[in-house]
Amino acid sequence: MAGPETTPADIGPTEDGSHLRIVWEDGEVSEYVPRFLRMRCPCAACVDELTGVRTLTEDQVPQGVYPQAIHYVGRYALRFEWSDGHGTGIYPFELFRALWDEHRGGTGDASG
Ligand SMILES: [Zn+2]
Repeated sequence: MAGPETTPADIGPTEDGSHLRIVWEDGEVSEYVPRFLRMRCPCAACVDELTGVRTLTEDQVPQGVYPQAIHYVGRYALRFEWSDGHGTGIYPFELFRALWDEHRGGTGDASG
């Protein structure tokens, strides 16, 4: 039961290719630095499944990492194939929206 605030109308790179842009059906437009998303990969290799503690550290992710391919997972998520070879993280649309809302709230940094 995804609402318009968690339903992407359009997903693609920004004009200069530096960010991933999602236009939501509620009209909100969010933009993400690829490395910001890579650092928040929710897969079992990046987050301890038992404790929920992130095991991925900043120095494991190259600066300038970018998605070589983006795949839809059903109707609810995206999966990236990153330029550092990682590709197991499944990012629900709710996660993108939560990261963006967090950024707008001033407690996160999606701009770099
Ligand atoms: Zn991962």
